[in-house]
Amino acid sequence: MQDFQQVINSIHKQLKDEINRGLVANYIPELSHIDVNNFGIHLKLISGENFSVGDSQVPFSIQSISKVLSLSLAFQLQGNALWKRMDVEPSGDPFNQLSLLELENGIPRNPFINSGAIVIADILVSQLKNPKEEFLHFVRDLANDQTITYNPAVAASEKATGYTNYAAAYLLKSYQNLENEVDKVLDFYFYMCSLEMNCEQLTNAFYIFANHGVCQQNKTWLTTSQIKRINAIMLTCGFYDEAGEFAFEVGLPGKSGVGGGIVALLPNNFVISTWSPGLNPRGNSKIGMQALEAFTTKTKLSIF
Ligand code: GLU
Repeated sequence: MQDFQQVINSIHKQLKDEINRGLVANYIPELSHIDVNNFGIHLKLISGENFSVGDSQVPFSIQSISKVLSLSLAFQLQGNALWKRMDVEPSGDPFNQLSLLELENGIPRNPFINSGAIVIADILVSQLKNPKEEFLHFVRDLANDQTITYNPAVAASEKATGYTNYAAAYLLKSYQNLENEVDKVLDFYFYMCSLEMNCEQLTNAFYIFANHGVCQQNKTWLTTSQIKRINAIMLTCGFYDEAGEFAFEVGLPGKSGVGGGIVALLPNNFVISTWSPGLNPRGNSKIGMQALEAFTTKTKLSIF
């Protein structure tokens, strides 16, 4: 077996002092205080073995990475009926752009652009009695970790400045693709994005996507076919308008968030998370992408 600890140590060493680390997201004011020098990696093999380096135990705001988890819960609850309200095509849109092309007759292009994730949030608000509590319960169960929680200050900070998300939600409402009131849906959406996890917790939560829908506690949450579909959407839509570049450089399904986290996986093999809060101009963690490119190149482990 490869010496994975040595591989991630050398990647960490090579990138930890890089001067040009990108810019911390500041459009959510509460995120702008994060130290750009944080850098952690956690790798979990399908066998359950763990390898960690750097700031892998420091919690960070997972932001859009939560969209994979909300999609998973909505898919589990609604099955294929979900796809009547949502398409699965890459948008090529930047992370912070509300483009009218995101919606064709009120149908978002995919569940990871903001308008798509807002429709998913609407489905969860309709289906769950206590959406915030039940979603958190689901995530804690997936990760087998009861300490995972929301950061209400981040949720409030985004709510105070989230005009584009309000615009997207009202547009969806005008197309009758939102069942609940805008405020109620966005309140849940902002909370969901404010979830905090460290790199290890994130790899634990995403273990099911590498393991055919079965979490570490041996509980089956999603079918093999649902996992195939979610992994496909991660590969094609997981990195804003840089999904092609991520497939080209890294070659794994994954998802990034503006908090600087990235999680990626190779089915039947491993899950890996990185956190480095500086973003490149396309909203993806600059050092995180470089670390993952180095990882799949050095280990020769990618879907391609
Ligand atoms: N909560 C953020 C927003 O809606 C998520 C951004 C992201 O990570 O892509 O803008």
